[in-house]
Amino acid sequence: MPDRLGLPLGAPLFERAAIIGVGLIGSSLARVVRRKGLARQIAAYDASAEVRARLRELALVDEVAETAPAAVAGADLVILCAPVGAMGEIARQIGPHLAAGAILSDVGSVKASIIAAVAPHLPASVHFIPAHPVAGTEQSGPDAGFASLFLDRWTILTPPEGADPKAVALLTAFWKNTGANVEAMAPAHHDLVLAITSHVPHLIAYNIVGTAADLEEVTQSEVIKYSAGGFRDFTRIAASDPIMWRDIFLNNKDAVLEMLGRFSEDLTALQRMIRRQDGEGLESLFTRTRAIRRSIIDQGQETAAPDFGRRTKDD
Ligand code: NAP
Repeated sequence: MPDRLGLPLGAPLFERAAIIGVGLIGSSLARVVRRKGLARQIAAYDASAEVRARLRELALVDEVAETAPAAVAGADLVILCAPVGAMGEIARQIGPHLAAGAILSDVGSVKASIIAAVAPHLPASVHFIPAHPVAGTEQSGPDAGFASLFLDRWTILTPPEGADPKAVALLTAFWKNTGANVEAMAPAHHDLVLAITSHVPHLIAYNIVGTAADLEEVTQSEVIKYSAGGFRDFTRIAASDPIMWRDIFLNNKDAVLEMLGRFSEDLTALQRMIRRQDGEGLESLFTRTRAIRRSIIDQGQETAAPDFGRRTKDD
């Protein structure tokens, strides 16, 4: 692996970056790679002919390939940005076409199952360094992406034991140049952390919105009319892409079930507090949870704005 970290500031880190799957995350990456000049050339492939046509209209990348192997040919950086369940099959297709010395990474929300599905298809000469940018919105598709999506968010790398330190350093530099903070973690630990910070919250949102939709004694129009009481904020999360989230739950089963078990126990304790009129217990929990929100704001991962301070698209 050549030492490209000593390059002058602003010089491209890669000759050709290939992005496979160009929806919200892939197109945000394409935008920031181009804006920051992180690769001399950007190639892309998406399974959807409609998305490929849209990519040509948007002119986000230099080459829209008709197959995944064509996109990765000659690339020294390949990033898989398709749904979690598609990663193994993509690796099977591109494996024989990857350039020796290339870095293969991904952005999947689950790590252990992707590693198990992808690694067997890769030649030994390729550096496989999985990654997960913990940044996103409930939108999908190439029009939903924006260059600042990763700014001040965390990207978690899960390099396998014995990974080439130069390749890890190069991918770290790449993500830092997108504006992200970077941390390394073991894949199983990543999956546990994300189960409680992202996957279970999504499941709760899907569940509460589903419950409200199925109520008989409260009408749909009442649910919508009075949604500002709290329900509205769950509906944003529950509007997330069904395929992406189906794949996340199927592929992070153990960690999600573990965290869900704890959640159910705590919910039962809350139920008991309400039944027993335990105001002190309720107040004590709500005071602790308020402090967690304050630390998220203090650490720059959220704003105190009443609409949850979501960034608007900037390009
Ligand atoms: P997205 O907007 O739905 O984009 C995914 C794209 O991949 C779609 O255009 C899809 O095409 C395409 N695709 C599906 N199978 C493919 C294949 N075999 N080969 C090439 N392209 C394929 O999804 P996203 O939100 O960008 O998520 C992409 C990945 O990022 C997922 O692994 C997800 O776990 C991860 N991630 C998402 C977020 C988030 O908040 N959204 C955050 C962090 C990480 P079709 O439309 O035809 O299926």
